[in-house]
Parts: sequence; C-alpha cells; structure tokens
Amino acid sequence: MKNALLCPVCGEALTFTEKTAVCPKRHSFDRAKEGSVNLILNGSATSGDDPKMVTARKNFLGCGHYDHLPQELYEELLPYIKNGSTVLDACCGEGYFTNKLAKSFSEADFYGFDLSKRAVRYAAKEAEGSVFFAANISSIPFADGSVDILTHIFAPVCDSEFFRILKDDGIFVHVFPGKDHLMGIKELLYEKTRENDEDPSVSDIFELVSTKKISKEIMLDNKSLCDLLCMTPYFYRTPKDKLEEVMALPSAKTVTEFVINIYKKKI
Ligand SMILES: [Zn+2]
Repeated sequence: MKNALLCPVCGEALTFTEKTAVCPKRHSFDRAKEGSVNLILNGSATSGDDPKMVTARKNFLGCGHYDHLPQELYEELLPYIKNGSTVLDACCGEGYFTNKLAKSFSEADFYGFDLSKRAVRYAAKEAEGSVFFAANISSIPFADGSVDILTHIFAPVCDSEFFRILKDDGIFVHVFPGKDHLMGIKELLYEKTRENDEDPSVSDIFELVSTKKISKEIMLDNKSLCDLLCMTPYFYRTPKDKLEEVMALPSAKTVTEFVINIYKKKI
C-alpha cells in the first residue's frame, strides 16, 4: 500500500514499521496497537472529543441510522474516484464513513485523520487497508497537491489547508447538516427551536461543482436517542432536568438532513 504521509517535523516521507512511523531524519512517531499513528507534535493539542462522546457516536453510527449518507456519497464519488486515487477523510472521527467508503472503493488509497487519538484508534481497529492518524487540521501532513479527493463530514472547515493539499484537478466533498437536521430532537428539548444555519463556510478559493440535500426520517429507540444526545452539543446546552426527561423517553423520531457540496479548486 502506498503511503503519502509526511513527517510533521521535517516534511520528508514517513515509513511505517510495526510500532512506529519514521522519516529519513529519524523523527519517530508511535503507532497504537490498532495501527493508527499519532502525528500531533509535542502533545500540543489535546483531543476535542471526550471518551463518552466518542463511544456514543460509535454506538449510534454502528446502529446504521446514518447509513443512507455513505450510500449517497458512494454515488456522488463514483464519477471521480479512479484506480490509485488518494482519498483523505479530514476529521474522520471513529472512521465510520471512511471505512464504509474505503470498502466500496477498494481501488483507491484511503486515509483518515482526527484530532482525537482515541477516535483514530477506533477507526484503525475497523480499517481494512486504510491509514488512520492523529493530526491537526491546520497542519495536515500531506504534500502540496497530493490528494485527489478530500472528504469532510460534519466538522469545521479549514479551506486554505484543504486547498494546499488538493491536486489541481482534485475535489473537496463537504458534508454538513441541513437546516432541519435533528429538528425532532430539538423539539423535544426546547420550547423554541431554530433551524440550523445552512452555511457551508467555504471561501471563494473553491468553486461549487454540485450540491445535493438528502433528508430522511429516522426512528430511535431509547439507547440510540441517548447516544445521539451524548454526541451532540445539546448534551451540554440543555438544562439537566430537561435532558434527563428526554433521555427517559422510550423512543423518538426525527428528520435527518445532510447537504453534500462538491467543490473544485478555483485556479
Ligand atoms: Zn522528519
């Protein structure tokens, strides 16, 4: 398998051994037993995700509630992915979508990274050939113009860095929540609900090629409802008594809404 990762200290190519990734200048980075490698320097950034949130998201996604999204992404990526394409999933979390897509496109080389070391360890555990690493989104250890397809699902955008690592004919696939995403859950939690701001926050260094919105109603049992609440900011924003009341409900239903925007570099 090809390896496109660079040493975050000197920028030279990294070589994988069983327990480390090393560069020719002998900068060395530990690999977890699951295979993921930590490329965050000096332990500077601590993970954005607490263990509870990581586990909740893994459980929730594992129940298949969002499986229509990778199916849709498969269709969207089909015209672009070629034999040997380098695909990078930025802020991949536990790699749920990365691993699903990698399975559908075995002819491409998949990479995924997240700030959370814990999350990429989970991701690597389930991986079949994909490379997972911990890194900061503002300093992605890939060479300029080395990525064919960059996917970015539900996370804040760092578009200047995305621009740098994408090939000139590469694409940036941005997935973010539509205005009514999880409205059914919000209605349970709050008296007054607000639509999501359907703003992709991508600057004009990129040009929009296509946009698609997918909506689906999902039914949640109590376990999935609790997992969903734990993986969203609502968990911290809702008064405790209200949160407990909703987490005791036997079931709930809500609409889910995803927007898939595909961009190319404006050059
Ligand atoms: Zn180095």
